[in-house]
This record gives sequence, C-alpha cells and structure tokens, in this order.
Amino acid sequence: MRWEAQRLDLEDPSALPGMPSIRGLLRSIQVPEFPGLTFHEVRSRSALNHVPGESAMPFPWTINPYRGCSHSCVYCFARRTHEWLEFDSGRDFDSQIVVKTNLVDVLQRELARPSWKREHVALGTNTDPYQRAEGRYKLMPGVIRALADSGTPFSILTKGTLLRRDIPLLVEAARQVPVGLGVSMAIWDDALHSALEPGVPTPRARLDLVRAITDAGLPCGVFLAPVLPGLTDATAHLDAALGAIAAAGATGVTVIPLHLRPGAREWFMAWLRDAHPELVPRYEQLYARRAYVPAEYRTWLQQRVAPLLRTHGLDRQSGGSARGATDAIATGVPGDEEVGFPAGSLPIGGMAGVRPRAEQVSVRGAAPVDPWEQLSLL
Ligand code: SF4
Repeated sequence: MRWEAQRLDLEDPSALPGMPSIRGLLRSIQVPEFPGLTFHEVRSRSALNHVPGESAMPFPWTINPYRGCSHSCVYCFARRTHEWLEFDSGRDFDSQIVVKTNLVDVLQRELARPSWKREHVALGTNTDPYQRAEGRYKLMPGVIRALADSGTPFSILTKGTLLRRDIPLLVEAARQVPVGLGVSMAIWDDALHSALEPGVPTPRARLDLVRAITDAGLPCGVFLAPVLPGLTDATAHLDAALGAIAAAGATGVTVIPLHLRPGAREWFMAWLRDAHPELVPRYEQLYARRAYVPAEYRTWLQQRVAPLLRTHGLDRQSGGSARGATDAIATGVPGDEEVGFPAGSLPIGGMAGVRPRAEQVSVRGAAPVDPWEQLSLL
C-alpha cells in the first residue's frame, strides 16, 4: 500500500512501439461509444494510496480509479500529473485516460489484510471517479461494496452525474459505514461553463444530482469551487449559485477560490489571455507569489458570501455548514465541519479548489507548502 506503488509513469520495456510507456499497460483502445477518448488499461499494483503523514490533507487514504479526466476543466490542478506519463497536461489529460482495470480485486485484497485499520478513504481527490470512463469500466460499484463490506468509511467528491447510477448502492453502504458525498460546481453562466468545463455535466444536471442524493436520504455537500476572481465572484453570481444550491437541498456548502498550480496555471492563463485579456493583470497580481489567492481576497470573498448564506438559510444547516463555508475562505482549514459537511459526515477530499491545511500555514507566514504536490502522486 505504498503510495509510490501507484505510480504508472515508469517505463515498461514490454510496451509496444508507438504506445505510451506505462507500467502495467495491457492495451490502449478507442471505442465508438466514447469518441475522442483513448483508454489505457493497466494492471495496478495497489489500490489504496497512503497520504503521507506530514501531509496537510484531511484524509489518510485515497483511491483513484483513473488518471486523466474527460471532464476537461481548464483550471484542473491535476493536469501536471499527466506529464509523468509522457502525456501533455492539456489535450492529453482530457483524452488519454489511464484505467486501473484490476482496481477492485487489488482493493479487496488490501482491505482484507489484518493490518488494515479501516481509516477514512477519500475518492475524487485527484481525478473524478465518475468521469465518462466509469460508464464503460464500472469500477465504482465494486469499490463501494468493498469499502462498505470491510467496514471502511469513505467519501466521494465528484462533478459526474453518473453517480446517480450508484445511489441505491450508496444507500446500502451508508447502513454499514459512514459515507460522505460531495458535488462540485462553481460556474452558473452557460457560456463560461462550456468554455472552462467542456466535459462536465451542466450545473442544472449537477443540482439534480444533489437533489437525487438527498431525496435518497443521504447527506450531500456542495463545493462552490473554484470561485474565479472577476468571473464568478460578483454578488449576483454568488447569490444565484447559493440560492440554487439551497433549493436543491444541499446539506452543506463550501466556498473556495481558485488556486492555480503549475500545470493548470499555463492552460488557464492561456484561456484567460484569449477570452478575457482585461483580467490578465489582475490574475498576475493575485497569483504572483503563490498558487493561492492572498488572504485579503479570501477575507473580501468571505464578507461577500456571509450575508448570502444567511439569505438562503445556508448558515443554519446542520453541522455548522455555513460557518464552515465562511471559515474555509477565512482560514483555509477544510476539516470535518470546517468544509461545510453536515454533522456526522466525514471529511471529504477535493478536486479543484479544495484547499488543504497547509494553506493556512502559508497564510500565516510560514514557509509555503503545496501539499497538492504530494497528492498528485496518489
Ligand atoms: S477539476 Fe475535477 S472534474 Fe475537472 S478535470 Fe479536474 S479532476 Fe476532472
């Protein structure tokens, strides 16, 4: 269960000419049902990835069934991980998808070990487990069953409406172990959504997913993330978003501004220069020193969001979710309640925009640490 064992970026001498050099590669295929995507099916040596003890991440274990993500968010922090596979972090990240085909078998073996302590496992920490590939490979039902049957609590964060397929299974699992579910959404303007999240289901479809989850009796938090300075941080935009999230029955909400790590920064800034050149100086200033916005911006955003949370009743959600949402902006501490998850739910991992504890450290002036560097390896 060493996290290094998950790395797929080592040369495999048996790889065929013209094929990517990925350890454990079984075959690379394109199928008519998924135009534009190439699936690289691999045998992975392990399923559970241990988050290093010194990491700021609020979860000890992760599972990532896929590498690359067809949701294709321009701002995705995981883009650079594809370079380790000899792919580029742009179009290849969106279309060259590595699939751990033996994931469930390996996971079952790892969960059966006497040494397994049934600590929380987070899914959706690097790439989306309910991206399009899941429609073909159907790995998640086996993962959910294996975790629940072994008594292991888990959480899933996704933008993929394919999770609907597994709601009955998740309801069963929640009878066995604590289950945390989160849906990520941030952009409510259709044109902006199409430009920046071309492979992601529409915000309306994701709101419907939130409603379906809560109708099934499961808690569902929403990550209003990433908030894009100058693009989605207007009061009207935030008001519309929080109103829709509240109406969908979300049991918590977290509001988190964009962070731009290397890998995502290049692609996002290229898009910004083309689509909104007037905002380029502002972004260069905001992200001049670090991947995260300065504390001043977070405070400003917190003050803007707080009355909207009250307006939409999100400050009265169970578990202090609204308090958590504002704290997440103000302090960068996405722990259990702090990230806005309902009482009794578990800390959940994150994709774009979710800030780990180390950000708080750097806000306070200590040496900047970027724990995403660690997580990207998982
Ligand atoms: S931000 Fe999430 S959903 Fe979007 S491409 Fe990255 S992993 Fe996929």
